[in-house]
Amino acid sequence: FKTERFGQHILKNPLVAQGIVDKANLRPTDKVLEVGPGTGNLTIRILEKSKHVTAVEMDPRMAAELTKRVQGKPEQRKLDIIIGDFVKADLPYFDVCISNTPYQISSPLVFRLLSHRPLFRVAILMFQREFALRLVARPSTALWSRLSANVQLYAKVDHVMNVGKNNFRPAPLVESSVVRIVPRDPPPPVKFEEFDGLNRILFSRRNKTVHGSFMAKGVIDMLEKNWRTWCAERDEIIDGDVNMKAKVERVLDDTGNSENRAAKMDVDDLLRLLSAFHDVGIHFA
Ligand code: SAM
Repeated sequence: FKTERFGQHILKNPLVAQGIVDKANLRPTDKVLEVGPGTGNLTIRILEKSKHVTAVEMDPRMAAELTKRVQGKPEQRKLDIIIGDFVKADLPYFDVCISNTPYQISSPLVFRLLSHRPLFRVAILMFQREFALRLVARPSTALWSRLSANVQLYAKVDHVMNVGKNNFRPAPLVESSVVRIVPRDPPPPVKFEEFDGLNRILFSRRNKTVHGSFMAKGVIDMLEKNWRTWCAERDEIIDGDVNMKAKVERVLDDTGNSENRAAKMDVDDLLRLLSAFHDVGIHFA
């Protein structure tokens, strides 16, 4: 049986299924994207409250079961099923995303949704508890991480409810949580690769000083390489050697960040530091 390959743990508790759909506050005009509908326990409830559902399901047998479930009913014409991998599928326009997907695709799911345009209004997503808690973590708390900062750059994320493993068949090994994601609209005008590049350095040891993180092996060399590329693209001549270490230290000192720690920096602190680096031509991607 393919349970493990597709992560097929079906939500069996109708109260939890209804609770998840209710949290989306669907409007009758909404177009909804559902990832991994399985046998359709969420889907039938979403169809009741929305204008249209596109469901992306990788397992053809599950898709067939869902088709059977709506066959001959008025809901049938409100449902499109895309059989395939969500990560590769062409996504339609959607106002809302609701999903209980296998936890292997948690990260790609979140970042793919956030980079989709036009932006959706809200997403209600079920994740493994640990992943959900990192998504919602705030600065200066134990779980504040690169993932928290990268997602909260683009969205407001809240914890909606805990869902114990006994609500699923077969029961998974891990506990789950549902989160609400509301994109910041308009999104901040910063390249994700740059923000993430800075975060990779700072959060590799989130309790180390920012200065210490920049002095880790390979970091200064990488930044110098990026800087040379940046200068070359602008036809700027570099005469002689550049002291990249001193250049970096000057930015950290000028912005008062040398003794700071990623564990305590919020998204705005990180954006300010990134922008100060960009001002002197230092790039992270
Ligand atoms: N949403 C249903 C529920 O709550 O009962 C099913 C949940 S089950 C955890 C995950 C579903 O996602 C399965 O039906 C599985 O076949 C499907 N799936 C797994 N990987 C997928 C992918 N990459 N793209 C689309 N669907 C996927």
